[in-house]
Amino acid sequence: MEIKSAKYLISNVDWAACPKPDKPEYAFIGRSNVGKSSLINMLCNQTKLAKTSGNPGKTQHINHFVINYDWYLVDLPGYGYAKVSRNQRAEFGRMIANYLQNRQNLMAVFVLIDSRLKPQALDLEFLRQLGEWGVPFNVVFTKADKNTQSETARNAKNFINKMKEEWEYIPKSFVTSAVKFLGRKELLGYIDELNNVYYNGDDE
Ligand code: GDP
Repeated sequence: MEIKSAKYLISNVDWAACPKPDKPEYAFIGRSNVGKSSLINMLCNQTKLAKTSGNPGKTQHINHFVINYDWYLVDLPGYGYAKVSRNQRAEFGRMIANYLQNRQNLMAVFVLIDSRLKPQALDLEFLRQLGEWGVPFNVVFTKADKNTQSETARNAKNFINKMKEEWEYIPKSFVTSAVKFLGRKELLGYIDELNNVYYNGDDE
């Protein structure tokens, strides 16, 4: 898929105020500092579309972008940031839970995982929650350039193996680097496929 346009639309705390669900939508989420803004900018061929985290935990909004006037990209706040208060965390949880459970046009949530780390309980817990809600997701490993290829592959495999302990079906996952533009074609190709399903039905 070629990115012809990428435009910021609106930021909300209330899912009900989000744009009319008239296009397929893809949300990006992960722990603070996982590389979410960098990945979004890399996908959209822009440098400043999503704000990279000078101030983690501050962007507590559901941020909508429209891509090619054809699909919505949603930048969700990072989870697991230690310095927010318990109250803020609860509010954040409610906001995200409402959005994820109610957004009718949500085709997939891309859950970003730092490819340098061992499987983290917080990430696995978040996936478990998505499963309970029946929200479709894909795992996206980030910062692949920071390790050797074999280390990245090993960490990704460890994470998937951990998922296999709980999940019967493991959805497609992606290995990416915002610096090397790795995984861009694959991720955009996948979005393209799902867009076709949304607009034309399954039998395309
Ligand atoms: P966010 O908080 O999840 O939005 O993370 P950012 O996109 O702001 O990235 C956090 C830090 O990781 C920044 O210093 C980025 O430059 C760095 N980073 C993000 N993606 C990559 C990547 O693919 N490779 C490398 N080497 N660094 C990255």
